[in-house]
Amino acid sequence: MIPFLDLQRINAGFEPALKQAVGRVLASGRYVLGPEVEAFESEFAAYCGARHCIGVANGLDALHLILRAFDVGAGDEVIVPSHTFIATWLAVSQTGATPVPVEPGADGFLIDPARVEAAITPRTRALIAVHLYGHCADMQPLRQIAQRHHLRLIEDAAQAHGARDLGRRAGSLGDAAAFSFYPGKNLGALGDGGAITCDDEALARQLRRLRNYGSLEKYRHDIAGVNSRLDEMQAAVLRVKLERLDADNAHRRVLAAVYTDALRGSSLAPWPVRAHSEPVWHLMTVQHDARATLIAALAAKGIECGVHYPLACHRQGAYAARRWPALPRAEQLAARVLSLPIGPHLSADDARTVARCALHASEAVAA
Ligand SMILES: *Cc1c(COP(=O)(O)O)cnc(C)c1O
Repeated sequence: MIPFLDLQRINAGFEPALKQAVGRVLASGRYVLGPEVEAFESEFAAYCGARHCIGVANGLDALHLILRAFDVGAGDEVIVPSHTFIATWLAVSQTGATPVPVEPGADGFLIDPARVEAAITPRTRALIAVHLYGHCADMQPLRQIAQRHHLRLIEDAAQAHGARDLGRRAGSLGDAAAFSFYPGKNLGALGDGGAITCDDEALARQLRRLRNYGSLEKYRHDIAGVNSRLDEMQAAVLRVKLERLDADNAHRRVLAAVYTDALRGSSLAPWPVRAHSEPVWHLMTVQHDARATLIAALAAKGIECGVHYPLACHRQGAYAARRWPALPRAEQLAARVLSLPIGPHLSADDARTVARCALHASEAVAA
């Protein structure tokens, strides 16, 4: 049995440090926005190479609060990838603004910088670059476009804790970045959690207000904020797990290399990695025309796969009421992607086994 994800096993690897951290919070009597959150914020900002980190309740809120801090709202447009997890789009919709999808290139899965400018209108206020599957979006051209058109450049780094583009870490590549610490992410809490990183001091202050009822001082509410706070228990857990993030990501790279070598030249070949991009392989996603057959064949061998994601955002019920331009790449990817198991719970031998079974299954389909 090779599970897609095994959180019990992954988190058991952090005992007894996790139990100690939880015990420390239990004994402290401080449970929301206290010293653990402050310590985690400074440790995670340093890790990302950003000046500030603001802990929030989850990744969706992190994106939404960044947009609010930039005064994005009704009547505005925000450019988003057509192929992403729906949270990227929902964060925009929550502000009252409109998500404007841009497709990946013909043989990629990340937003294609060459297609962005055609989507910019006088209403465009921001561009959300998603570092999907742990691979940084191509930030240098995106930054140039954002500067040229006076757009805010926001990173959705929920799948890319520790990833690098041109030597710099996700979280330091745009005007602000959103992270999720949902349990299955590369840096995962024992519940929900999220964070925003940025360099701008005034922006960080505004985000601290927004996450806590618009307040920086008890019972003074400068703006109509929300309740989206990171709690002490999750922050203490994240501090423990942050210490091993680089080692875990290095292990994911080893597994990714096994997969890449084994699948090279086949119909399951992984996407090539852009030069000067260092992915953290949140997912090991490949594509195949006979996806369902392949998943069933692997399941028969006890190997679990995932699909990220089976229905494009614009095809979801949540977005059915709007007319969308043709988004053939998003639809093609939704129909063809499958994610092979990867993560700290697997060995290189596991990855070899999965790759071998996947190749057999794809050859059987072709025959
Ligand atoms: C997980 C994820 C989010 C949302 O994070 P939550 O903590 O679940 O709200 C946003 N964007 C992407 C790309 C994600 O994978």
